[in-house]
Amino acid sequence: MTSESTSAAIESGTRAEALSRSLTGLLDRIDAACHAAGRDPAQVRLLPVTKFFPASDVEILYGLGRREFGESREQEAGAKVDQLRRLPGIEWHMIGRLQRNKAKAVARWAHTVHSVDSSRLVTALDAGAEAALEAGARVAPLRVLLQVSLDRDPGRGGVFPDDLPALADQVANSENLQLAGLMAIPPVGVDPEPEFARLAALHARLLMQHPAGTELSAGMSEDLEAAIRHGSTCVRVGTALMGARPITSG
Ligand SMILES: *Cc1c(COP(=O)(O)O)cnc(C)c1O
Repeated sequence: MTSESTSAAIESGTRAEALSRSLTGLLDRIDAACHAAGRDPAQVRLLPVTKFFPASDVEILYGLGRREFGESREQEAGAKVDQLRRLPGIEWHMIGRLQRNKAKAVARWAHTVHSVDSSRLVTALDAGAEAALEAGARVAPLRVLLQVSLDRDPGRGGVFPDDLPALADQVANSENLQLAGLMAIPPVGVDPEPEFARLAALHARLLMQHPAGTELSAGMSEDLEAAIRHGSTCVRVGTALMGARPITSG
């Protein structure tokens, strides 16, 4: 299904009907990609990305059986987390760029952070997770995915591949963090295929040192098939599920 046909579907009928339809279409698309890649669909999770969409949309998706949601901005996410506390088993994933001064707040609500890319951020998240555990705001260590820079553009975030082993060791040695794997966003306007292939190679190397880091968060609305071909375990999908966002975000 293209983004255009998904958006069109979302404009007709109620929002719940539209989200139900686009969710079914998206799950079929992920299933087809898994079969084409010779992978078991149970190995690839869908993380709906609900940034810029209201808590009521999250609630509809929860009603359709989704439990994990991705957000990219601390303030917006924190408000939704507060509004939806009554929903048992809901899990929030921070996927956007994260500043150190937001680490403490994020460590209170995030089940997993996908966008960890510096030593200073690891230190801040470990301290935040410790405080949240002590306060009873969380019950488990914070799962951390290291975001890899595939194009070495410092403006886009991500740790350079050379610095990955040391950062992975730091997370593994942090008492209140759990190293869960890697995440990446391919550069804009390039063929994602070789980018995901490089990411898969980096992930294979990480797994030799850190066998528990099995998660590979890769693939979005436009490129999830390529990501699934290269071992993604978690596709983060916004537009193809929710429709177009009012403005593009980081
Ligand atoms: C917004 C966002 C997504 C979802 O992108 P779509 O192209 O709308 O599917 C995925 N990952 C990150 C890090 C994002 O910020």
